[in-house]
Amino acid sequence: MYEIDHGFSTEPPCRRPIPADVLRGANAAAAMPPRSRKDDGGVHVTVASLGVPAPSTLREATAAMQWGVVAPRDVIALAADLIAAGTVTESLAALASLYPDATAPDVFSLSSRALVEAGGRPLDRDGEEVSILALRVACKGYLAGQLRLRVFFSWVHERVSHDGPDAAQPLVEFDDELDVRKASDLRNRPDAARLVAGFLTATQ
Ligand SMILES: [Zn+2]
Repeated sequence: MYEIDHGFSTEPPCRRPIPADVLRGANAAAAMPPRSRKDDGGVHVTVASLGVPAPSTLREATAAMQWGVVAPRDVIALAADLIAAGTVTESLAALASLYPDATAPDVFSLSSRALVEAGGRPLDRDGEEVSILALRVACKGYLAGQLRLRVFFSWVHERVSHDGPDAAQPLVEFDDELDVRKASDLRNRPDAARLVAGFLTATQ
């Protein structure tokens, strides 16, 4: 059976070499840590779980759209909510009036301009901030009960990975821990919620 090697390797379990005797075994495939591969990035949350519409909410939702966590039409709807709540800028109005089938690049560029008009920094499409904000949105969806534990953490492991932002590493490593826990081990649920809440606090 595949086991964690305590205190010997600093590599996460998913990156450690599998012992040769396991590889030679007839059921080597069955000995691999269980991981759901059928959910290839399929993590989607509603914008409602982000809380009161605000420029910070628009920033998070736009980053999450880059990662496919929210749909472009959700960001467009959020722009309309922001205008209704009293934030009115030229680009925000243009964003709110886009057709629901507008593409992510169109929504991103208008939203980024709207954020600057509202006094914020532009969103760096390729920077670490997008990763952190997109993950924050997924975390809020998880805490709101919109994502199942294994789906959420498998996605974090795949999408963020061990090479991702330092702040997210406890969440990535938790997925490795889940791989070696028994599926029936319900104690991981409070652990998971605490970790996710800790990430949200640390990245505020
Ligand atoms: Zn790993």
